[in-house]
Amino acid sequence: MISHTAGMHNIFLKFKLKVMIKVTAYPKDLENSIIKDFTAQLKGKIVMVSDESYDETRKVFNAMIDKRPGMFVICTDVADVIASVKFARENNFAVAVRGGGHNGGGLGLCDGGLVIDLSGIKFVRVNTLDNTVRVGGGNLWGEVDHATQAFGLAIPSGIISTTGVGGLTLGGGVGYLSRKFGLTIDNLLEADIVLADGSFLTVNKHQHEDLFWAIRGGGGNFGIITSFQFQAHPLKTVVGGPTLWPIERTEEIMEWFDSFIQKAPEDLNGFIATLTVPGPPFPEELHNKQFCGIVWCYTGGSEKAKEIFEPVMMKKPVFEHVGEISYSAIQTMFDGFFPPGLQWYWRADFFNEICPMGRAQHLKFGSNIPTTLSQMHLYPINGAAGRVGKEETAWAYRDSKYAGVIVGVAKDAANQEKITNWCKDYWEALHPFSAGGAYSNFMMDEGQERVKASYKHNYDRLALVKKEYDPENFFRVNQNIHPAV
Ligand SMILES: Cc1cc2nc3c(=O)[nH]c(=O)nc-3n(C[C@H](O)[C@H](O)[C@H](O)COP(=O)(O)OP(=O)(O)OC[C@H]3O[C@@H](n4cnc5c(N)ncnc54)[C@H](O)[C@@H]3O)c2cc1C
Repeated sequence: MISHTAGMHNIFLKFKLKVMIKVTAYPKDLENSIIKDFTAQLKGKIVMVSDESYDETRKVFNAMIDKRPGMFVICTDVADVIASVKFARENNFAVAVRGGGHNGGGLGLCDGGLVIDLSGIKFVRVNTLDNTVRVGGGNLWGEVDHATQAFGLAIPSGIISTTGVGGLTLGGGVGYLSRKFGLTIDNLLEADIVLADGSFLTVNKHQHEDLFWAIRGGGGNFGIITSFQFQAHPLKTVVGGPTLWPIERTEEIMEWFDSFIQKAPEDLNGFIATLTVPGPPFPEELHNKQFCGIVWCYTGGSEKAKEIFEPVMMKKPVFEHVGEISYSAIQTMFDGFFPPGLQWYWRADFFNEICPMGRAQHLKFGSNIPTTLSQMHLYPINGAAGRVGKEETAWAYRDSKYAGVIVGVAKDAANQEKITNWCKDYWEALHPFSAGGAYSNFMMDEGQERVKASYKHNYDRLALVKKEYDPENFFRVNQNIHPAV
């Protein structure tokens, strides 16, 4: 009797192990007939390793990323996404989801597995009755701005228009309008989502509230968003542009900015940076020199702007180009400096203040920027973005003062080590003065501890939602939240 029970126990254990250890399969091993059947289910197309367009298809914004997926599905609608999820599950493939392909760590791609690419799901529908906007899961922000500006409307997003709506929104969305209208997620009203089992839900404040909470900051962990609905705001022109001070004045300008921006009207925003002037359209005498800079955006109208910017001009910048411009123009102002195909290395943290010791590090590393495009930015988190409670959405650092990011950027792959070392050293010098975690969209693929630090008190709740909607961690190529045990 005893040996029989032990034997049964062993058999049970072996069975359990077999169930738990799933061997990941690869699309390259698929029989042609299976690929043919799958293709027949799609309106979009697939790209395999052997296809001529494969190398072009696997490119993402960051040229430092060199992942080799086994298969791409270029989806054109929700049905394609559902079919892809089911196909990946049936064949036990690792899956990555690509929106705009901008992620620093290349989280829109995976090695060997299947990439569900959303670039064919693009549409923007503006409802002028209530200023809400429906956007496809694969749109880029420039396409959204183009459509909304025709109606004099804007949705808060980031500062480079080629960034994907999907990744930026799901991570939070920090930009020029954060102080006035909040983060991008604070303007998200609803989302359509394909879950890990291939089912489809619409989530909003009243439907699947827990999931709606989680996708507002929790990234691509919970499913594939095929459409977003945003609240837009009337905005056609802003008063904005850069002001520059010699890098030697970094500590003084940062100290002034730290107190100025906390009290400034919410119509005014600006991110502060250490940077090198890369070339035209900046005047030639500034080229290749290092500066402490602020890029401003004021939404309160041109009549009041002179008064608003008076304290800034009293700090006597060596260069200023602040004036009335269209919202689209400020949204695309720096696109030209950052085309796709550059080398990028990212590090980030939130900060509760720009303390004197931190300021000294900014001066030190800002004076030794390794390439003309490498920069450090601090984005204010206050005003409307700071008024949202730190548990109201998954975005945990509502009470921090800045989302900071350091980017080592180079045209030439030969400079990879140089930009990586500068970025890491700068980050390590600043990290002791940080709030502990980083904005997930400004991180590379940096491991679980950093993911936990970035969600802080919200991590456990996110893990519970993950357990409910994706218990097997099907969506794991992201800043990964592990399902609660
Ligand atoms: C030049 C540059 C400037 C930037 N500026 C800003 C800025 O001003 N403000 C800011 O907040 N961020 C900014 N970012 C960071 C940006 O928010 C992240 O890189 C973000 O991940 C990009 O989203 P994506 O869709 O382009 O990326 P992808 O690489 O396609 O995806 C990133 C992650 O999001 C997931 N994902 C994407 N779309 C979907 C979807 N529809 N459904 C489910 N999951 C999805 C992917 O699976 C992946 O895990 C910038 C990035 C770059 C490169």
